[in-house]
Amino acid sequence: MSEYRSGFVALVGKPNVGKSTLVNALVGRPISITSSKPETTRRRILGVLHGEGYQIVLVDTPGLGSSHTLLGRKLRDMATAEGAEADMVAFVVDTTHYPTKEDREAAAVFADVKCPKVMIANKVDVHDNAEKVLPYLEAYSALGEFSQILPVSAQKLTNLDKFHELMLAAMPEGVPFFPPESLHDVDKRTRVEELIREQVLRSTRQELPHSVAVQVEDMKPGDTPGVTLIRAILYVERESQRRILIGKKGEMLKKLGMLARPLLEEELGGRVFLELWVKVKEGWRDRPDWLRALGYE
Ligand code: GDP
Ligand code: MG
Repeated sequence: MSEYRSGFVALVGKPNVGKSTLVNALVGRPISITSSKPETTRRRILGVLHGEGYQIVLVDTPGLGSSHTLLGRKLRDMATAEGAEADMVAFVVDTTHYPTKEDREAAAVFADVKCPKVMIANKVDVHDNAEKVLPYLEAYSALGEFSQILPVSAQKLTNLDKFHELMLAAMPEGVPFFPPESLHDVDKRTRVEELIREQVLRSTRQELPHSVAVQVEDMKPGDTPGVTLIRAILYVERESQRRILIGKKGEMLKKLGMLARPLLEEELGGRVFLELWVKVKEGWRDRPDWLRALGYE
């Protein structure tokens, strides 16, 4: 009988290369959130691949984005730490364009990790044949030492089985991290927060997204069976942003609630009563205590 195997795979790479899409495709149901705006994913969300005799924990790292604010630096530190602790680093790149400064920076962060490093060259579906992908693979392969460079499409599910095999091969002997029945509610609260935040990103303009954090204050069964009561706070940095989020006569907030509720109901499998509040926390992105309170620790 062979041994049980388990370990961590850190998915790293700059924002928008498709890390979340990849996790969702691998895990087979949406856990992380995708959006065309960078830095949607702001905290580590685990997806778990489990099969006969193994568990692979995918750490969907936040984008290695700007480090101008404390939040930016924290995200970077977290990503680095995850890389350091992982049994494998999967460096994801986007073959719709050539490497950028951000790719080089992201690659440099993980240059010295001891575990196996593979390059996942995503979005190959945009090229109509394999030959056209080659120059991109060549350019990206110059970014570091990779034991393998695997062209994939997270969207079209191309080569994901190969990726799965690569990860499995890198897993050490271990014990299950999660009981199988808990695999489907890996941090529901985080999922709820991200779903709400996603609606904020979709509904507001440029100036807002990065200044908004969502915190679920309360999430509990209501008096009516099958109903979940959720109270969430949207934190912004300035009064002007608070006004935008609330909108004229509360219209924006109402709209956000209407957009988020059906998604939450689908996620939680029942009816949801959603209460949204907007609060100003000046400069929250630069306050360590608030970052901790908002779960960025
Ligand atoms: P992340 O920031 O790295 O987590 O990237 P996301 O998963 O949020 O994806 C960023 C964008 O790339 C989204 O618009 C995705 O739909 C798109 N995307 C992701 N994977 C693929 C892919 O395999 N092919 C194509 N064409 N687009 C993709
Ligand atoms: Mg993401």
